[in-house]
Amino acid sequence: METIGTEAGARILVVEDDAGIAQSLVRGLARAGYVVDTASTGADALVAPPADVVLLDLGLPDVDGVEVCRRLRRRGDVAIIVVTARGEESDRVATLDEGADDYLVKPFGLAELLARVRAVLRRVRPAGPVTYAYGPLSVDPRTRRVAVSGVEVMLTPKEFDIIECLAADPGRVVSRQELLERAWDANWYGPTKVLDVHVAALRRKLGVEGLVETVYGRGFRLGRVASPAPPTRSED
Ligand code: CA
Repeated sequence: METIGTEAGARILVVEDDAGIAQSLVRGLARAGYVVDTASTGADALVAPPADVVLLDLGLPDVDGVEVCRRLRRRGDVAIIVVTARGEESDRVATLDEGADDYLVKPFGLAELLARVRAVLRRVRPAGPVTYAYGPLSVDPRTRRVAVSGVEVMLTPKEFDIIECLAADPGRVVSRQELLERAWDANWYGPTKVLDVHVAALRRKLGVEGLVETVYGRGFRLGRVASPAPPTRSED
């Protein structure tokens, strides 16, 4: 798997076993501002970082594309655009039944692909302000502002990425690997200690005891916070 593109655009996973096709898709999507991950097998696709849109080629070397679609859909509200060759109409219908959002028949042009991607993104990322609110915490992904009890807290970009990831789905345990991928890079091979350093700084700045909870051996999540706490607190 590789990641290309640095813009704060939507994340697209290209599942395609033909390296040439994958490369041209990645190039076109990255140029359009998307962050693109690739997977060349169904197995890779199922362990790829969370994406907003999955472009799923049905003719994969290992797992049946319809099965990949079913499992991706079961995992969450990702938009799935199925890519099929002519003659795979029954598979196409099956994937739509399994929750695929749209399909493209090869060969297709980049302009058509981008239009389909924009259309499904409007569904999964509706326009308008989305602010995550959780107890005293509010996180605005659009402006990248964080407040505790209404008082803005200044965070570094990585601290923001971490709290955004946790606040997007409060209560869910987010693994260390997922946080590293979100805030650093999909291919972070460095020490994971760096994450603890940022989480410690984040906790200090948020100043709410128990808000960012460590789930031992699994990761982090937002903990239950009884009542709004003061926005600042002296150092431990
Ligand atoms: Ca293929």
